[in-house]
Amino acid sequence: MTPARKAIGLCRVCGERRQLTFEHIPPRCAFNAESLKSYTLAEFWKLQAGERARYASEQRGAGEYALCTECNSTRGGTWYVPEFCIWAQVIGSQLQAVPTDGSIAAVRIGLRHVRPARFVKQVVSMLLAINEPAFGDDHPALRQFVTELDRRGLPTNHGLYLALFNGDTARSLPATPWLHSLGSTEPGRGLVTELSFPPFTCALTIDGPRLGRDACPITDFAHLGPEDVEEVRLRLPLNWTVVPDL
Ligand SMILES: [Zn+2]
Repeated sequence: MTPARKAIGLCRVCGERRQLTFEHIPPRCAFNAESLKSYTLAEFWKLQAGERARYASEQRGAGEYALCTECNSTRGGTWYVPEFCIWAQVIGSQLQAVPTDGSIAAVRIGLRHVRPARFVKQVVSMLLAINEPAFGDDHPALRQFVTELDRRGLPTNHGLYLALFNGDTARSLPATPWLHSLGSTEPGRGLVTELSFPPFTCALTIDGPRLGRDACPITDFAHLGPEDVEEVRLRLPLNWTVVPDL
């Protein structure tokens, strides 16, 4: 942390120019409180090639000075993070018992008395936070969905997907043009942004093709209200990502 990183800037969620605060991405209570090494993609490829690679040491977990206080503490911290952390902790504890040898493709998860709308709003907040403010400018429906607690629904060309992730290398992928080879046989178009950090992979596609049966779509959660309490049953693919492994 340096003084420069505490600068006034554009909040990636609401788009307002404000004092920015450190946002844990994902939230601290979702297994993101330990120190880690953060590589850019170019430096990570050097590491994979056995070369020396530069990294930033993140002593208190992964995150950035990317959100204003209201989006970080009030909207995220009060409205959405508590729900997200319940899901992360319950599902994360079940994930620990799942073999990591590739023998299991998906896990069926049941959750009772949860509020899916709040969970999915935190997912969208995180995906906004790993992108530059221009991404939110280009897709105002995402901003409205997070900044307005009662806002329901997303445009029909938006797709949200959830998977289980227990890999060693977490990664955040800002909006990237959809490529023909990524998970679909349909022609390439649209974009994808993705965050993989145990226990979840969260992905958003815009104008992308419908993903195959292996994906677990969660877009419909966006139609629920913030106080709607549901029982959900999900078939979550294990270590499935829209973008292939690096
Ligand atoms: Zn904000």
